Amino acid sequence: MAGASVKVAVRVRPFNTRETSRDAKCVIQMQGNSTCISNPKQPKTEAKSFTFDYSYWSHTTVKDEAFASQRQVYKDIGEEMLLHAFEGYNVCIFAYGQTGAGKSYTMMGRQEEGQEGIIPQCVLFSRLYYILVCTIFQVSYMEIYCERVRDLLNPKSKGTLRVREHPIMGPYVEDLSKLAVTGYNDIQDLMDCGNKARTVAATNMNETSSRSHAVFTIVFTQRRRDQLTSLDTEKVSKVSLVDLAGSERADSSGAKGMRLKEGANINKSLTTLGKVISALAEMQNSKKRRSDFIPYRDSVLTWLLKENLGGNSRTAMIAALSPADINYEETLSTLRYADRAK
Ligand code: ADP
Repeated sequence: MAGASVKVAVRVRPFNTRETSRDAKCVIQMQGNSTCISNPKQPKTEAKSFTFDYSYWSHTTVKDEAFASQRQVYKDIGEEMLLHAFEGYNVCIFAYGQTGAGKSYTMMGRQEEGQEGIIPQCVLFSRLYYILVCTIFQVSYMEIYCERVRDLLNPKSKGTLRVREHPIMGPYVEDLSKLAVTGYNDIQDLMDCGNKARTVAATNMNETSSRSHAVFTIVFTQRRRDQLTSLDTEKVSKVSLVDLAGSERADSSGAKGMRLKEGANINKSLTTLGKVISALAEMQNSKKRRSDFIPYRDSVLTWLLKENLGGNSRTAMIAALSPADINYEETLSTLRYADRAK
């Protein structure tokens, strides 16, 4: 499926302490933009090979030439997507992968110099653009948990928000806070507050945030005066930056009640997202213009991202990988998912 509009990257993280303490071996190799994975149970069989737009190596603490820094990942993917947004496209960047594989590190990063993820770097760059071309610049931050939407920038608002559809702008969340950002510290404060709200809610439900999708959105409104007609025109573009729920399969044998429902919802939205991306790629390849068969409505996540995935949009996916043999099955399934999105 060669949909021109989806850019796909994979990124392998260093071993974590759990893996090191279990003497895990590295099963991933990367060269140029190709990524290979070898089956630890069948060392004699040939490694499976995949090609992506970018294959990012970080499986070492020693920074060699192939080591992908936070800055590099942002430059390749974040900045390219932002430039599309400045041209008037809606854009979307997803981080996909099993819990602990590096999704939040890639999207949010850490609050240390050079460790900021795609979201803070995108906000900073957009701010500069805003100052230069004078646009309205707003952000929102929400969580989708079990098909329900919560506002992470307004933690006091208890309960879930309604998803509605605007005849022109498409699906949206009613009463979701949209805040104007004026400086870098603002962004950091907003995100800290949002992330805390995420964790608090998760703890109340006795769950962890890895079981919900977090969607950070930047909306630009560009007003320009046409030199000839002197009429003002307005161009709105939406940048959605999504830290998806962990892709690991819920252990169906022991899962009951809420946990079972949760697992089913995560599977459903991740599968639907995969289907939507494939269907869009197919539509583009076959030059069909009909989009009514694209299953956006099958999950809240894809429904809300409708305008960022189809039509006038550009999408990128970063699949986060563990390097360890003990995660082989999950890592292979992440690579297959990423491969289908191409
Ligand atoms: P996820 O969001 O997929 O559950 P995290 O982003 O929280 O996973 O990553 C798990 C741990 O691994 C964190 O401590 C994070 O800082 C670290 N980590 C993930 N990716 C990298 C990377 N590329 N380089 C260094 N550390 C990483």
